[in-house]
Amino acid sequence: MTIWQIPNHLEDRKGVLHISGANARELADRYGTPLFVFSEARIRQNIAEVRAAFERPGASVRICYASKANGNLAVLETVKASGIDIEVNSGGELYKALKVGFQPAQIVFNGVAKTERELEEAIQQGIACINVDSAFELGRIIAIASRLHKRAKIALRIAPEVTTGSHGGLETGTSLSKFGIAEDKIDEVWRDALKHPEQVALIGLHMHIGAQVSNAEKHGEGLRAMLAIAARLFADTRHRIETLNLGGGLPVPFIKPEDDRAAPTDSYAMLKAGPTPADVAQATLGSLDRYLDEWSGSEHAEFRQMIHDAQFIIEPGSRIIADTAVLLTRVQNFKTRHASEITWLMLDAGFNTLADILGYNWYFHPIAAEKTGSPADYPYKLAGPLCDSGDTYHDSEGYGRLPDFHSLPADMKPGDLIALLDVGGYTLEQMNQYNGQPRAAAVMVCQDGQVRMIRRRESYEDLASHDESLTSPTT
Ligand code: PLP
Repeated sequence: MTIWQIPNHLEDRKGVLHISGANARELADRYGTPLFVFSEARIRQNIAEVRAAFERPGASVRICYASKANGNLAVLETVKASGIDIEVNSGGELYKALKVGFQPAQIVFNGVAKTERELEEAIQQGIACINVDSAFELGRIIAIASRLHKRAKIALRIAPEVTTGSHGGLETGTSLSKFGIAEDKIDEVWRDALKHPEQVALIGLHMHIGAQVSNAEKHGEGLRAMLAIAARLFADTRHRIETLNLGGGLPVPFIKPEDDRAAPTDSYAMLKAGPTPADVAQATLGSLDRYLDEWSGSEHAEFRQMIHDAQFIIEPGSRIIADTAVLLTRVQNFKTRHASEITWLMLDAGFNTLADILGYNWYFHPIAAEKTGSPADYPYKLAGPLCDSGDTYHDSEGYGRLPDFHSLPADMKPGDLIALLDVGGYTLEQMNQYNGQPRAAAVMVCQDGQVRMIRRRESYEDLASHDESLTSPTT
């Protein structure tokens, strides 16, 4: 079996990639490219894996899918049908969650710049929890709740001062980032919240140390920091909390475990990311008793009991959705630069379709979708269609964060189909129309064997649909 195959999900059948049984060539011919192909079965399987990993006797754990990773309605419907809850990061995500039928009590709300309108909507709906990001935001919530005669359930987002070693832009757990309430402020915000029991119910603490955390122990470090803060606040005020939210960041092996061709790069460890959900569960819930040893005295008995009674929340995004989709893209042009003997393949998808190749130098593993039986041993540079030198699948700035070459069969040519793997998360949401490129379509291979369009391909008309002409009537 080649390094990318996943039984019943990604398979090589007679040299052609199949996604949950659907033939990649037929999908590309029928729907065109670039085309995202999602698998309903894989979404359900990933949710079941995370759920099983965190299930522990006596512990209450709630899984809130981070909808920022992929808020497509069909994806949200699938997540909802799997029976887990949801995390939103804006009024728009709240709207979509409600639209597909999540109950307010299933929704937690994060964000660093929640607007009055967004908070009003969340408070009016009576959602499960608003994770408060600052002293100012607490004041805003109290004022809105007071005006609406509602009581908002809130948790305070802490900055546990844990770094994860992932991409700098994905570090969200220290007070050098823009997220959360720093250690020197948390006591004050806590006490302020307790002064307004009619407007806010202070039910817990929240953190999110970052995305793609490739060392499971980092989650454990975060939990220990959270427990230390919780112990201090409890000793100080005797206020009992009900929830400890550990955020997301469960990693995905974007570089396949056995794939050493992609090494070495600065991002290698982060993108290869070994820890499974079970490893993260072990480093957190599974180690809780050991962490609580720090508060073993009888004077802490009540605190320990409170933590044991509390519900743990996790907010995985990428781990649930990333490997559920491939992007089918066609080679539109190629050239060999004889001076360097480098062969370039130009695809119809660039950073307009996969924004993270530009923003985070992200690695998406390519396979020749109609030549899956051929050895992938020839080095190519891959690039997108945009008029921009940064539109490549290697690190165009030469910082060594990505491999310079991708290995594909030696006979690649225009018209060939390439599948980029693990593109289900943070992609549909970030597509753009740069260079007059209509956004790509997405389909889902459903468990009943049907292929359904879940996002229609944009047209040229869509490129102009929000612009106003100077000659149109004024509004
Ligand atoms: N929770 C919060 C607060 C986040 O900001 C994010 C991602 O940015 C997530 C959860 C999901 O992270 P991931 O997709 O890495 O699991």
